[in-house]
Amino acid sequence: MTKYREKIIVLDPGHGSTRGVLGYDPGCVHGDRTEADANLEMAVTLKFLLVGRGFRVVLTHDGNDGPKPDLSWRTRMAAGLGAAALISLHWDMVFKPSRHRSGVYHAPGEPSRRLAQLIAPTLKQGAASWCEPSSHSRFKGLYIDAFPDSRPAVMIEFDSLMHAPPTGTAGKAARIAMLTPIADAIARAL
Ligand SMILES: [Zn+2]
Repeated sequence: MTKYREKIIVLDPGHGSTRGVLGYDPGCVHGDRTEADANLEMAVTLKFLLVGRGFRVVLTHDGNDGPKPDLSWRTRMAAGLGAAALISLHWDMVFKPSRHRSGVYHAPGEPSRRLAQLIAPTLKQGAASWCEPSSHSRFKGLYIDAFPDSRPAVMIEFDSLMHAPPTGTAGKAARIAMLTPIADAIARAL
């Protein structure tokens, strides 16, 4: 029997939310695939894995809830729930294959750096994956930075969207394989 934990984890599927609604933001696009849809699939699978480890998990949006929640709202929502961690999920743009790398950005606090360092080696490229403070991103900072420094906030970039597992049931086993070590790393950090 899984030990029940009081801790809430907020997962933020990057971009979204409802297609065709004002404010929909697909993120990057590869063929007929949008990053927003691929991020949401990862979030739903990671939620399943974290619930199995005893956490309460809340998504910032589920793809059926109207216009895209803005970025500062996502962080405020997580902080307002008293979440133990905020984890944002993104697939990256389609680059030349040699530039495809997975990695994790973390907010300024030490708990964020620690969680990012546990997650980064589990990503596809393992030791070659990057782990950087958000200040090193091309935006010189990220919306996760507004989460309280005493609790971890990270943004995972899962490699190029062109390498995302197939949508739906066809990609389920691949998503679980990618996300199981990440769920274990989160459970270790919290
Ligand atoms: Zn993105």
